[in-house]
Amino acid sequence: MTDAPTIAPTDATAPADLPLDPHKPMRVLAVANQKGGVGKTTTAINLGTALAAIGERVLIIDLDPQGNASTGLGIDRKSRSRSTYDVLAGEATLRDSILTTSVPRLHIAASTLDLAGLELEISSARDRAVRLRNALAKLNDGAADGTDYTYVLVDCPPSLNLLTVNAMAASDAVLVPLQCEFFALEGLSQLLKTVDQVKELLNPRLTIHGIVLTMFDARNNLSNQVVADVREFMGAKVYDTVIPRNVRISEAPSYGKPVLVYDLKCAGSDAYLRLATEVIQREREQGAH
Ligand code: ADP
Ligand code: MG
Repeated sequence: MTDAPTIAPTDATAPADLPLDPHKPMRVLAVANQKGGVGKTTTAINLGTALAAIGERVLIIDLDPQGNASTGLGIDRKSRSRSTYDVLAGEATLRDSILTTSVPRLHIAASTLDLAGLELEISSARDRAVRLRNALAKLNDGAADGTDYTYVLVDCPPSLNLLTVNAMAASDAVLVPLQCEFFALEGLSQLLKTVDQVKELLNPRLTIHGIVLTMFDARNNLSNQVVADVREFMGAKVYDTVIPRNVRISEAPSYGKPVLVYDLKCAGSDAYLRLATEVIQREREQGAH
């Protein structure tokens, strides 16, 4: 009997869909929509978990003072001694604020309510809109092989405020969750305008990665109509994967778990795994990863 061969990062026999290159570039996606309750945090947590499950090294940055992404990943308030507030206030490095989660390869920079006051505190600082970008620029410096991040997901607050602008200025692309409800498209043009402004003034490489329809209810005609309307309006920008309304998704955060850990077999977990595959596929098509 021979020993099983060790798979080297460049081994041609390794499955092609496993990201094995330790020097893969870091991709930063802002999960943004100024409407509340559309599934931003749920998408950040569960897309992040799904990406980690398929081998990516993922950091979620909680940029909402409500801290729902942090709580939903089981981070209690006591362990948030260094938070995204400290990072943006210039009092801690991003690396120092990172916490591990129960999911392998998924880490988080947690937020606290202090973040709500940051905008006023830094409003006259020249670098106020690029503080997150500057913090991220140093993130992978000096990381040992295979410990750097390949995906960073920034969970934005429900507002087009300075925090969201920081997220967009620091990102390669914006991922927009849209809830399948009557007013789904309302506010989208304003969001797209903000993306254009950030692109013009702060971050020329910024693109829209895609639009993910959330809380889809197949029994509801309105849901189907919204999907058709959004696809007509936004075309190929809309991911094929639609996230269903699924009670397991809404239960999971109260256990401090992503839905993939809470109930891997449910329709919600399946959808977020498919979304992760689609996100990676788009990255490949765009030559980013
Ligand atoms: P946002 O971050 O945009 O404010 P959340 O992700 O917090 O939105 O979602 C709002 C609420 O809807 C939360 O209670 C969440 O658990 C629930 N929710 C989100 N997505 C789904 C879904 N696909 N099915 C059922 N409930 C969902
Ligand atoms: Mg949220």
